[in-house]
Amino acid sequence: MHQTERVIKHFNMFKKNDNILLAVSGGKDSLGLWLILKELGFSVKALHIIMPFKEYSEKSLEKVKSCALKLNDEPIIIEANKYLEIDFFKALKIYKKPICSFCGKVKRYILSTYANKNSYNIISTGHNLDDETAFLLGNILHWHTEYLEKQNPVLESNKFMPKKVKPLIRITDEEMKLFAEISKIDYIEESCPYSKHAKSIFYKKILSEIEAYMPGTKAFFYLQYIENIKGMLFSKSSEELKECRICHYQTYNDDLCFLCRIKSKY
Ligand code: AMP
Ligand code: ZN
Repeated sequence: MHQTERVIKHFNMFKKNDNILLAVSGGKDSLGLWLILKELGFSVKALHIIMPFKEYSEKSLEKVKSCALKLNDEPIIIEANKYLEIDFFKALKIYKKPICSFCGKVKRYILSTYANKNSYNIISTGHNLDDETAFLLGNILHWHTEYLEKQNPVLESNKFMPKKVKPLIRITDEEMKLFAEISKIDYIEESCPYSKHAKSIFYKKILSEIEAYMPGTKAFFYLQYIENIKGMLFSKSSEELKECRICHYQTYNDDLCFLCRIKSKY
């Protein structure tokens, strides 16, 4: 809890008068963070997105609801298909990229547009140190410079989305598991059925082996990148954001965002 409070201050993530929308998945990290932010006295509202992944999604929702009951709070629940007026799997076929990347894009779209419409000035997710180091390692191994440039515990707001933050970047999977157990938070333990073979799980395993051999390596790898290395590699982002002519969400090279582009081919 105090480690997280220090991170929030160090990276100037948010203050007591900010309106925080916290994305909760039903996993240990985001549910644990919900409790932490409430106990620290921040103004936080949890939002859960129901994805169409059958039992996995049903179980996730159950965990969110039981945590809400424990915290005596009311989460916002949004069904992805209804909110976006699409069928996820039909849209995925049109999108033609991996399911995890589409799922992430869909969730970011919902979070950003919902936060903007409802006057939240901060979006927080529960990404932890293991998530971030696995992402960093994967992006270095494949030299995905466009993702490396964007990886940050804080993304400042722009015209299309509020500031986005990741307060758990100093906490590992193991530490969050322990915290959830101590705090008696019931969470979904299995990973998403569609991400079973995701490379990130493999990277996490390798990084944990390195950590066991050389404790502190994960935090050093990530924080050095964020605080020292990144600035040497990239100057201020040159990428120009445009506005989707239909829904007004952000788009990079097109006059339609990824979602409206899919809908135009429906
Ligand atoms: P994951 O990519 O599943 O490791 O999730 C990373 C973070 O994204 C979680 O800690 C949540 O903050 C957020 N998130 C993932 N799935 C959902 C969901 N279905 N609804 C709301 N937030 C989510
Ligand atoms: Zn659009």
